[in-house]
Amino acid sequence: MATTPPPQTYRVKSFGCQMNVYDGERMAELLGAQGIRPAAEGEDADLVVLNTCHIREKAAEKVYSDIGRLRRDDGSSPLIAVAGCVAQAEGEEIMARAPAVKMVVGPQAYHRLPAMIEQATLGKRAVDTDMPAETKFGALPARRKVGPTAFLTVQEGCDKFCTYCVVPYTRGAEISRPFNDLVAEAHKLVEAGAREITLLGQNVNAWRDDSNRGLEKLIETLSEIPELARIRYTTSHPNDMTDGLIAAHGDLPKLMPFLHLPVQAGNDRVLKAMNRSHTADSYLRVLDRVRAVRPDIALSGDFIVGFPGETDAEFEDTLRLVDAVGYAQCFSFKYSPRPGTPAATMDGQIASEVMDERLQRLQAALNRDQLAFNQRSVGQRCTVLVERKGKYPGQWLGKSPWLQSVHFTGEAEIGALVEVELVEAGPNSLAGRLLA
Ligand code: SAM
Ligand code: SF4
Repeated sequence: MATTPPPQTYRVKSFGCQMNVYDGERMAELLGAQGIRPAAEGEDADLVVLNTCHIREKAAEKVYSDIGRLRRDDGSSPLIAVAGCVAQAEGEEIMARAPAVKMVVGPQAYHRLPAMIEQATLGKRAVDTDMPAETKFGALPARRKVGPTAFLTVQEGCDKFCTYCVVPYTRGAEISRPFNDLVAEAHKLVEAGAREITLLGQNVNAWRDDSNRGLEKLIETLSEIPELARIRYTTSHPNDMTDGLIAAHGDLPKLMPFLHLPVQAGNDRVLKAMNRSHTADSYLRVLDRVRAVRPDIALSGDFIVGFPGETDAEFEDTLRLVDAVGYAQCFSFKYSPRPGTPAATMDGQIASEVMDERLQRLQAALNRDQLAFNQRSVGQRCTVLVERKGKYPGQWLGKSPWLQSVHFTGEAEIGALVEVELVEAGPNSLAGRLLA
């Protein structure tokens, strides 16, 4: 068996959702703790981790083209590990299809990566897609250095089984991390530089601890960390928007006025076939209640067009729902049949051209509303959390409380909270004027 020297440098490439971004950061910290350093820009890394996404077909296929691109001119490859949801769903297939891959590790097992790397340097290939009873979180090193905005995974997995979705299969059953561990990790993130924390979960608002405390209690406790200025959470399910969490939007000033609440479709027959267990109307009522306590809330959602059997008239219901809500921003996707999910074998699969046309119409409506939301912000004063330097000298980029990208010029620094007046709106960002 050919041996390889232990890797000195690594690169982690994450695709897909914010939970993957979080996992990618934690894997980087884990590799750092082994003395492996991040490869510099343009430097050839000894170890590459592809942290993959399986949510749609295109995302899953990307991994194979990426593996191909890692091959060097002399025919050799770095040590390649495939992590994330494609690893979980297609572990053995990846091993068979891509000999360059030495390690396949699922989202619940990546704390075992160091041991796998050791084996890989001895020439052994390994697949670890266990969902061990012990959680990976306890085995990961403490958080050290982060930017002004940080992710904190509080909940993983999903028990909802929407008929189109692979998450319950790739990420497993719903688990909530313990309250005290989360508060401790939040403190570490703040000590490491975070001013804003986004709590993450596939169903983040289903988070609950052993004493039955809900997400609002966690947010309330994190609000007490003095240097932490902003708290957000994503992604939520409409059925888990409890009275307590809705009230928190009115009561807790550090909880930002932004809610990402996917609906997927505006027609009740389609929602039922998706196993969403809410109706268009019950969804709209949840939004009304949130708006009642936080009238300036910016709303966001996810949509799928072309679910099997969706008729033109049913799709029109989605457009009507969009008109009724007036979203500030959204994600919208063509339905992608995922192997092993009930919807993949349902009758009435929709032709790709029909999905394209529906997606275009939906996105036109969503873009219109996003621009209108941004235009309504013009003239308002708000606090911007500065995240990075802009393209131009003296320019800075940050986020408004409503998660809009704002750019401005003047004296500032990364991590600062500055007051700006919003002066000009585009579809994806706003220009601000720095106030003294
Ligand atoms: N748990 C969240 C919820 O239920 O709203 C969403 C998690 S999922 C990772 C993110 C989004 O991907 C979903 O809201 C859905 O819009 C989209 N998605 C999931 N499966 C899909 C599929 N098979 N085809 C197209 N889009 C899909
Ligand atoms: Fe997937 Fe539905 Fe669970 Fe969201 S709630 S992760 S869409 S199964």
